Amino acid sequence: MIPVEEALEIVLAHTPSLPAEEVLLTEALGRVLAEDVRSDLDLPPFDRSAMDGYAVRAGDTSGAPVVLDVIGQVRAGQFPERGIEPGKAIQVMTGAPVPAGATAVQPVEKTRALEGGRRVEILEPVEPGAHIARLGTEVRAGDVVLERGLSLDPASIGVLAAVGKGRLRVGRRPEVAVLVTGDELVDVWERPGPGRIRNSNGFAVAAQARWAGAQVRELGVVPDQADKIAEAVRWGLESDVLVISGGVSEGAYDLVEPVLARFDVGLLFTKVAIKPGAPLVFGRRGDTLVFGLPGNPVSAQVTFDLFARAALLRMQGAKTVSRPVVEVELEDGVKNRSGRKAHLPASVRFEGGRLVARPLRSMGSADLVAHARANALVVIDADRTAAQAGERAPAILLGNFLERDGAPFEG
Ligand code: AMP
Ligand code: MG
Repeated sequence: MIPVEEALEIVLAHTPSLPAEEVLLTEALGRVLAEDVRSDLDLPPFDRSAMDGYAVRAGDTSGAPVVLDVIGQVRAGQFPERGIEPGKAIQVMTGAPVPAGATAVQPVEKTRALEGGRRVEILEPVEPGAHIARLGTEVRAGDVVLERGLSLDPASIGVLAAVGKGRLRVGRRPEVAVLVTGDELVDVWERPGPGRIRNSNGFAVAAQARWAGAQVRELGVVPDQADKIAEAVRWGLESDVLVISGGVSEGAYDLVEPVLARFDVGLLFTKVAIKPGAPLVFGRRGDTLVFGLPGNPVSAQVTFDLFARAALLRMQGAKTVSRPVVEVELEDGVKNRSGRKAHLPASVRFEGGRLVARPLRSMGSADLVAHARANALVVIDADRTAAQAGERAPAILLGNFLERDGAPFEG
């Protein structure tokens, strides 16, 4: 049994990088950037008015109210033909280039047009530099604006568009084969007979893989028979990653390890000091990684999130492969009798200037409904048997964190 940190190090040390590929900007969301992206332009590319108003020489307004002649107008997309002369103003729109010689823009709200717009009354003095975004003050041409290893979000998509990257290089998507084992499993469309349950891991794990940028190959559900498992594993080993659900603990029908041995998969660990999920198997054959996840649904999802997700992101070249960890204040006490590092479902919210975690009632590693209500996992170290209400503890923010408000769930 090895510690969680060591297990993650082993996984990442054995994770190969996939080659980069070129994609269109419209396909780039969620992909991992495989190049440093430089701006091809200064931004702003010209001295730009930040407001609708009047470009002036700031000094001309120091005795405001003052009346100035309006000698022109510049709209967004135009370029001013003439500069500002002393005592004159040029009307400008937001996003329009500011005429040469102008040192400030007075917003239209602080002016009054006179004589049908031929003159303008500037009602207050304006500071030099006000409401002018000068050329190159945001970014210089040639500056790196986005770094290799970044997972592309909508804001970075906007940046790529602004600097002219209609195509870009990203890490190839890993292909993940998902193999589900278990005699007891029935499909989602069926009502389970006595002693049977529905296969939820196949769906949840495939969704997790997709969420981590992977392409999923479903190998289906196989019974707990070594030859049947072997047949599917043979196919699965052709993918970048093979994820197997179930069959990795100590039961008489847990056959995954011996089957992997048949295929010369080098097992790098078979047990991790984590709760939920101790019987986690990790191995490698050539460039293919193999994860044997415990069948209990919460164990499968948590171990996938901590280890397999990290590997999938690293394969694509991501710099950040683990979820953020924050310090929370516990609203209720929690227990950890496992002797392993515990990951307990919690609902975290921001309240009174701090992050407060409400531990959620859970029946344990089969309770996938409790897990689905969580937006974070409170982490209690292996050597601690309990943490009290009011104590501070680390919490891993789950992938749904930004979409949940963390309001206390009454269930
Ligand atoms: P195993 O790891 O195969 O011993 O399974 C541990 C527990 O998880 C058992 O209660 C199984 O019935 C359950 N389980 C295994 N596979 C799945 C699955 N695909 N979906 C939901 N529960 C499962
Ligand atoms: Mg099983």
